[in-house]
Amino acid sequence: MIRTKVVSRPKLSFWERIYFPEIFRGVALTSKHFLKNLTLHLFHSIGLFRKVAAMVTIQYPEELWKLPFRSRTRHRLTKRADGSPRCVACMMCETVCPARCIYIVAEEHPDPNIEKRPKSFDIDLGKCVYCGFCVEACPEDAIRMDTKILDIAAYSREEMMLDMNELLNPSHKSGLK
Ligand code: SF4
Ligand code: SF4
Repeated sequence: MIRTKVVSRPKLSFWERIYFPEIFRGVALTSKHFLKNLTLHLFHSIGLFRKVAAMVTIQYPEELWKLPFRSRTRHRLTKRADGSPRCVACMMCETVCPARCIYIVAEEHPDPNIEKRPKSFDIDLGKCVYCGFCVEACPEDAIRMDTKILDIAAYSREEMMLDMNELLNPSHKSGLK
């Protein structure tokens, strides 16, 4: 049974209803950040306070932010030397995934030394919470989140699905048309 919690909209106070104080508050906050950053950039230009970071504007998507080494980005499946997936379809990642967004169909591997391989391997990015549990749970180092790809916008839920081909050969937006 689905439980629905009804949340009532809080009533606005008199000062919130006339909204001018909130506009002034917003302008004051924006001005504070503007003046702080302007001052810091001026100091930086003459070599002072270099260790205090000032905000900068990145011209995304032409200019990309340099992500820290350990950032979790879009998933990929690692490959064996022959180009086939390292994945042995053990289902550990699918089981541990808190968002239930990994869907694997297993099949027998032609190599008798390897029990199984994925027939299909899909990840629904629309549900993924980027927790990284799938990467940690994998006993084969077969799935990683190190593609540095952050573009995950799509026009429909179906387009948020990454199939095995996209996971083996990650490309910017090719899985998200
Ligand atoms: S990052 Fe977390 S939510 Fe996303 S697929 Fe992996 S385990 Fe599931
Ligand atoms: S945990 Fe690793 S080996 Fe197991 S199904 Fe997931 S990706 Fe494949």
